[in-house]
Amino acid sequence: MSYEPLASDFYSYGSLLTEREQEALAALRAWLERDVRPIVNDHWERAEFPMEVVKPLAELGVLSYAWDETAPFENSAVFRGFVALELARVDASVGTFVGVQNGLAIGSVATAGSDAQRREWIPRLASGEVIGAFGLTEPLSGSDSARGLRTTARREGDTWILNGQKRWIGNATFSDVTIIWAKDEADGQVKGFIVPTSTPGYSATKIQGKVSLRMVQNADITLTDVAVPEELRLQEAHSFRATSAVLRQTRAEVAWSAVGTAIGAYEGAVRYAREREQFGRPIGSHQLIQDLLVRCLGNITASLGMVVRVSEMLDRGEQRDEHSALAKAYATARMRETVGWAREACGGNGIVLDYDVARFFADAEALYSYEGTREMNTLIVGRAITGHAAFA
Ligand code: FAD
Repeated sequence: MSYEPLASDFYSYGSLLTEREQEALAALRAWLERDVRPIVNDHWERAEFPMEVVKPLAELGVLSYAWDETAPFENSAVFRGFVALELARVDASVGTFVGVQNGLAIGSVATAGSDAQRREWIPRLASGEVIGAFGLTEPLSGSDSARGLRTTARREGDTWILNGQKRWIGNATFSDVTIIWAKDEADGQVKGFIVPTSTPGYSATKIQGKVSLRMVQNADITLTDVAVPEELRLQEAHSFRATSAVLRQTRAEVAWSAVGTAIGAYEGAVRYAREREQFGRPIGSHQLIQDLLVRCLGNITASLGMVVRVSEMLDRGEQRDEHSALAKAYATARMRETVGWAREACGGNGIVLDYDVARFFADAEALYSYEGTREMNTLIVGRAITGHAAFA
């Protein structure tokens, strides 16, 4: 299958990819257009996740690309970024599902698990046989999770007893395992646990009434004396540093998803501007509409250059927290402007699902806030450039 760079990839960053990577992206794009785009508005309106996408995502390799043992071929971080972009360009909720399964759940095991844990869990998660979730945020601790977690872990022999609450946990209404981050009562350090959701004392309740990423199933989790064997503690997670190491990579991927979300809205607006006529001619022939569209394309192109570079830095082992934090803060801010301008260009039709702009407009808000808000990522960069932490 041949790969065509997107018209919205204005400087053809896709040409940096290998032929094999381009083929894989072409196959992904074809599946997304054929099987996913036609069903997402309906699922979005009903706030349901289309579980039928999980198997094809696994078969296409999308759940496994980052992990050598299971990936169908050797690939670059820029390629994986383009995968996130292509997913979000069609639907940010499907992109978020992959971000949780591949980036956060598998990423936690890969980054902080032992060899035995990696061998056991990564293939099962990458094949979609086991669905994972990532439980860090709590009702009383969001941005300050590095220091403010209240969920506790108490060791009793070879068993850990977990107690606490989690909030916002994506995929958690149907996950088979959830990675739970909790403070060890003995040393006060944050540790990670692979918690089977069938464990007594674990319960997850869907958060209702969301106006953004409605297809993503976010849950409130309660843990009451949940007993987890020592063999399910992530063996290399000794402090919040391990959690940060996972988030550093996923933040850069959220920046790519932000570019994809902006592209989704922009492409809808371009289509609309070519077709919709007012004052006897297509609105795309009016200077002010062209100005909106070109501003969108400028945002997309600048953000794309940034995320390509930050992924190249990951492949070279040069990416630091502040690099991915800047990409996440910048790309999501530009996305938020872009989806607003795209919506504006569509007038009233910009707020109904039928014109393929409104969903991106609404979904952008969640991407702007999750995996570190713009303020938190700004403070990470601010600390790096001044040497002063300004979080509290
Ligand atoms: P708060 O931390 O309460 O922040 C509220 C506002 O105050 C923000 O604007 C913030 O930037 C600002 N603020 C806070 N502190 C400061 C400060 N020191 N200086 C300046 N401004 C500050 N979490 C998970 O663990 N797993 C998931 O799978 C997951 N999925 C999510 C999916 C969705 C759709 C959403 C919306 C969230 C998800 N989250 C998940 C949680 C997400 O990471 C948090 O929402 C995010 O970290 C912000 O935390 P908060 O919502 O508690 O906001």
